[in-house]
Amino acid sequence: MEFVGIKNQGVTDYINSVLQQLFMVIDFRESVLNVSFNKGKEELNENELILYELKNIFHILSEKQVDCTETVEFCKAFIDYGGNPINVLIQMDTLEFLNLLFYRLELALSGLVTNSFGGTLSSQVVCREANHLHEIKEPFFSISLEVSGITSIKQSLKQFCESEILESENQYYCDKCGKKVDALKRLIISKMPKHLIFHLNRYQFDLNTFERIKLNSFFEFPITINLKEFLLQNENQNQNEDQNYTLSGIIVHTGTLNSGHYHSITNTKTKWLSFNDRVVSEYNTADLENDFYGGLDQDKKKKKQSAYMLIYRHD
Ligand SMILES: [Zn+2]
Repeated sequence: MEFVGIKNQGVTDYINSVLQQLFMVIDFRESVLNVSFNKGKEELNENELILYELKNIFHILSEKQVDCTETVEFCKAFIDYGGNPINVLIQMDTLEFLNLLFYRLELALSGLVTNSFGGTLSSQVVCREANHLHEIKEPFFSISLEVSGITSIKQSLKQFCESEILESENQYYCDKCGKKVDALKRLIISKMPKHLIFHLNRYQFDLNTFERIKLNSFFEFPITINLKEFLLQNENQNQNEDQNYTLSGIIVHTGTLNSGHYHSITNTKTKWLSFNDRVVSEYNTADLENDFYGGLDQDKKKKKQSAYMLIYRHD
């Protein structure tokens, strides 16, 4: 076996898609496989137990002795914020699952997720009275991008980082000036992660029907991208340093919000692969745009399949 598939326990394709994607991130895979537990399984806390089961799955995926593995023990160990294990018959959003998994893994072993996926966002407010800078830095593991009415990743990132003017009733209280002032507010990346995960906000709330719907509108993303313009320039960084990233993975959603299926596409540098539960096959990138950008098909009908999450690795 060159690659090992993962069985679907009902609707656990979202787990399989995320696990295969994370396994294909080599530095993260090695960090997980290198973890040693100096106590027995029964002594592990709830977060360590998840890491333990993840390591077991990664071990089977890397040994390549079987066609297919499963996630039964992992799902038993994986408890939500309320202390309940995963219900394998209810589909979870891959972003929600990924956030919870990263949160628990980082608690189990500090730095494990941050080293591979951790970046920093700076929320800056500059007062226009005296150019006072107010900055709050926040760590992130993924960035959510708007898709509605937007057709490309760069366009969406520009909107994400766009400055907002705080004036009239929205004036900002500058504690350095000691009064309310006009100000400029923006978000910018102040530390780029090794692997940058984008979530495409395709699940929207329809105000007419009061239902959540899925958008399959056209949204393009390149295989290579330079993100220099979205990185905060400061004295520690070379002003001209490119921030080149290569697309390494796509989590794809097919179908509707209530009845859908996730699978993963990954770029191994030598070839592209499709991980669809048990089935691992080669993927031809000539079809990438047609398969995952969304939009309309040849008959002008809305496509049912589109990219939901993207992973880029720093070159
Ligand atoms: Zn001020």
